[in-house]
Amino acid sequence: MAHSNRPTHTAYDLVIIGGAMIGSSIAWWTARNPDFQGRILVLDRDLSFEYASTTHTNSCIRQQFGSEINIRISQFGVEFIRQFQDVMDDPEAPAIRLQNFGYLYLADTPAFAQVLAANQRLQSSLGAGTRMMTPGQIMQEYPFYALEDIVAGSHNPIDEGYFDGGTMFDWLRRMSRKRGVEYVQATVAGLRRNGTTVTHVVLGDGTEIAAGQVVNAAGPRAAQVAEMAGLSLPVEPRRRFTFVFEAEDRLPRDLPLTIDPSGVHVRSDGQWYMAGCPPHEDLAVDPTDFTMDHSLWEDKVWPAVATRIPAFERVRLRNSWVGHYAYNTLDQNAILGTHPEIANLLFANGFSGHGLQQSPAVGRGLSELIVYGAYRSLDLSPLGFARILDNRPLIERAVI
Ligand SMILES: Cc1cc2nc3c(=O)[nH]c(=O)nc-3n(C[C@H](O)[C@H](O)[C@H](O)COP(=O)(O)OP(=O)(O)OC[C@H]3O[C@@H](n4cnc5c(N)ncnc54)[C@H](O)[C@@H]3O)c2cc1C
Repeated sequence: MAHSNRPTHTAYDLVIIGGAMIGSSIAWWTARNPDFQGRILVLDRDLSFEYASTTHTNSCIRQQFGSEINIRISQFGVEFIRQFQDVMDDPEAPAIRLQNFGYLYLADTPAFAQVLAANQRLQSSLGAGTRMMTPGQIMQEYPFYALEDIVAGSHNPIDEGYFDGGTMFDWLRRMSRKRGVEYVQATVAGLRRNGTTVTHVVLGDGTEIAAGQVVNAAGPRAAQVAEMAGLSLPVEPRRRFTFVFEAEDRLPRDLPLTIDPSGVHVRSDGQWYMAGCPPHEDLAVDPTDFTMDHSLWEDKVWPAVATRIPAFERVRLRNSWVGHYAYNTLDQNAILGTHPEIANLLFANGFSGHGLQQSPAVGRGLSELIVYGAYRSLDLSPLGFARILDNRPLIERAVI
């Protein structure tokens, strides 16, 4: 598809930097709001999204978080998935199915089992279907695991698993365009600031676009955009590896997204299986660095999955890729809303491993900030900039 690389106007009410899942969700939610009558421009350095986190995602959603705000965000995510066909408001819009295999967190220490149990109590109090399981109970339902070292697990078979994030992303873009949002392929190279406002977005070729409000939805490059406004943001690109494999002996039922104490996770992926992990040394990388570490499969991932599931002794690697988390170094959670120094620059960054599932609630919430200046549905302020500035991490102990 040919992309325009010049905005048609010199001024927009809203300019969104980054048009992948988060930028497009914010654009769609804002454009469909009848209280917003302005012009929206989405700028992306690469509208093929080849290197965006969104393209490398594993596209799963879970209720198993340790903080109320993240649980509520995912609950809305599930509601959005269920209503997708209706809310897209187009006769051709598809339904999006959620494949509820659940996440299974495995604890090999009593201390981590207690963390899971505390999380389960919170999740359950908010209506999630998480249950704590003994190794015996896990074996009864999933006899293919080897669990000698495991003291407990937590599993939620309701509203938790895989959804087709690619289709959701395509439709958010398509329907945003239909509602008048302009997508332009251009790199944002600077922000012109006048005191407490950003007045212009500066493109790589020097073009200046006047902006009423600006959103930073630049994924792993978000800190570069913040820096353009003179702000620092604790978000960096970190590599995450995905391996898709075929097993000679398929398991008798769907494999839950199993989070192994080794740091490797594995789940069903249609007829095949998908595993992932961080690198040996989890460091920031250049945003253009997508180098594959081939030793990870042989040395770490396959040994871990074959130890946990002996049927995976005989597998064939079918595909693998590297993607970037936009890794929030303070607490691996989203940073949403404005910074106290600048009134009209909104952040939607730092999602680490859970931005895809958070995109519906974040799009809705940020659009409320844009249109009304305050959250109206779900209050996302626990994920605001204040905790970053106060160095108060919102701790999640069961991360992936
Ligand atoms: C391997 C892997 C597995 C994952 N699994 C899951 C999962 O199971 N569930 C889940 O919820 N999340 C998951 N995630 C996380 C999720 O994919 C991301 O949080 C989400 O896609 C982030 O979307 P985004 O729009 O913020 O960022 P991106 O998709 O990275 O998009 C940012 C966009 O900004 C553009 N951009 C950057 N700088 C500029 C600039 N200066 N000018 C113009 N454009 C710019 C880029 O070109 C890019 O298109 C996973 C991520 C990875 C890498």
